[in-house]
Amino acid sequence: MENSNTYEVLAIRYATLSNRKASENFIGGDPHEQGSDLDYYIWLARSSSRTFVIDTGFDSGVGARRGRKMSNPPGETLKRLGVDAGDVKDVVITHLHYDHVGNFALFPAATFHLQDDEMAYATGRLMAQKFFSQAYEVDEVVAMVREVYKGRVRFHDGDAELAPGFSLHRITGHTKGLQAVRVRTRAGWMVLASDASHLYANMNEKRPFPIVYDVPKMVAGWATLARLADAPELVVPGHDPLVMRRYPAAGAGLEGIAVRLA
Ligand SMILES: [Zn+2]
Repeated sequence: MENSNTYEVLAIRYATLSNRKASENFIGGDPHEQGSDLDYYIWLARSSSRTFVIDTGFDSGVGARRGRKMSNPPGETLKRLGVDAGDVKDVVITHLHYDHVGNFALFPAATFHLQDDEMAYATGRLMAQKFFSQAYEVDEVVAMVREVYKGRVRFHDGDAELAPGFSLHRITGHTKGLQAVRVRTRAGWMVLASDASHLYANMNEKRPFPIVYDVPKMVAGWATLARLADAPELVVPGHDPLVMRRYPAAGAGLEGIAVRLA
């Protein structure tokens, strides 16, 4: 276990989407060219004193309706990693898209950390247009509004330190209130980009992902991620299958399910 200011960080894969076209991963991508699969993740960061879960994954029913099959329910993987979701006190919601916010009922003791801009965006005028609303589930957005009324959502307006060595950073771009996580590890400052960069190629080849609120802000966000991390390889994208190959399994029997990022 790490000390109280240094975190162990894990990526937990719960689904995969195959048979994609390059045009589904990059604006201007070739619609005839095969594109990378997308993996679906939540993340866990823990020190000797704090445990943070970052995102909650899609609801299996919502996923099925959208043609995405859950392979490993995230709550079960957390349990295998020694974390009871029912006890987790802090859950960071990077943004309210269906694949990041679907299982928050698993976390009855948690405070949800969300950017002001994300709630404003997900409940605002642009949601009347399918281009902007397509990756949100209205029932999940409404459910999060109910959590606000219960006092369980802690809003942030830009950067926020939640504990020594663990902070939130509003990136915007993909959605208006998208936030990334910066966490101190034994390897240095690591950044969990979430959907600020779906794949390594989005940020490294400077090719924006086509589900987007503001393209220039998405592009500027890649520079912010790089600035926040101690080394380029310490920026972890939100949906890249390469993450599962670049890092070791988090334990016996967790091959293909969870990897240790640091
Ligand atoms: Zn996503």
